[in-house]
Amino acid sequence: MTSIYRSLNLILLGPPGCGKGTQAKVLSEKYHVPHVSTGDMLRSEVRRGTELGMKAKEIMDRGELVPDSIVGSMILRRLDEADCARGVILDGYPRNVEQAGVLDGILAELGRTLERVIVIEVDDDVIVRRLGGRRSCPKCGRVYHMEYNPPRDDATCDDCGIALVQRDDDREDVIRERLRLYHEKTAPLVQLYEQRGLVVRVDGNQPVEGVTEGIVEALGTPLNR
Ligand code: ADP
Ligand code: AMP
Repeated sequence: MTSIYRSLNLILLGPPGCGKGTQAKVLSEKYHVPHVSTGDMLRSEVRRGTELGMKAKEIMDRGELVPDSIVGSMILRRLDEADCARGVILDGYPRNVEQAGVLDGILAELGRTLERVIVIEVDDDVIVRRLGGRRSCPKCGRVYHMEYNPPRDDATCDDCGIALVQRDDDREDVIRERLRLYHEKTAPLVQLYEQRGLVVRVDGNQPVEGVTEGIVEALGTPLNR
C-alpha cells in the first residue's frame, strides 16, 4: 500500500507476455495486496480437472477468450474474499469492454474504487520472443524466461526444485491469435480508462527492474511497514 492510497486496486493491462504476472508478483510483495490472475485461476481449474477447467482448456489452447459469465463469477467470488478488502492487483481481467462493466459493478457493490490502470507497452515482435522462452513452475506458478530471467539450475524452479513447464498456449500460432484478440478486444480498454484519468503508461520493452521502477514511480512511495 502506498502512503497516498487507503486502498490499492490496480489493473495491469497489456498484451500477453508484456510482463503482467512478473510485475504483479513484485508489486504484490511490495504493497501487500494479492495478485489476482484470471489466467492462473483458470489454469488451476484445468490442473484439478474440474468441469469448468475441461471446458476452459479447449478455449485457452486455441488462444480464445473464455466466456465472460465464467470469468465474471470467478472474479466476483475472489474479490469478495477477505484478503482483497484493501486492494488487489488484477492481471488478465478485464479483457474486453463487457468485463470492464462487470468489474465496475463488482467494485461498486463492494464499495471499492479503482486507483490506477497500469498499461505495460511492449512491441509485438518482443512478445513472440518472450512467450517462446517462457517457462513456469507447475507447483508455485513462478514464471521464468530461459534467456532473460533463467532459473539458477537448468530447467527447475528455484523455489520448488521441480521441472519447469511450457504453457500449451505459448506456441507461435496460438500466440499470434492471442495478440490479435488483444488488439481487437482488450486494447480499447486503454482509451476507456484514459477517459477516467486512471491510466499510467510504462515502457515494457526494458528489463524487469526498469519496468517495476516505472510502475512504483507512478504509484508513489510505499508505506514502511
Ligand atoms: P504476462 O503475465 O503479461 O503474460 P509474464 O509476466 O508471464 O507476462 O512474462 C512473459 C515472459 O517474459 C516470461 O517468460 C517472463 O519471464 C519474461 N519477462 C517478463 N518481463 C520481462 C522483461 N521486462 N524483460 C524480459 N523478459 C521479461
Ligand atoms: P493469461 O494467463 O492472462 O495469458 O490467460 C491465458 C488464457 O486464459 C487466455 O488466453 C484466455 O483463454 C483465458 N483467460 C484469462 N483471463 C481471461 C478473461 N478475463 N476473459 C476471458 N478469458 C480469459
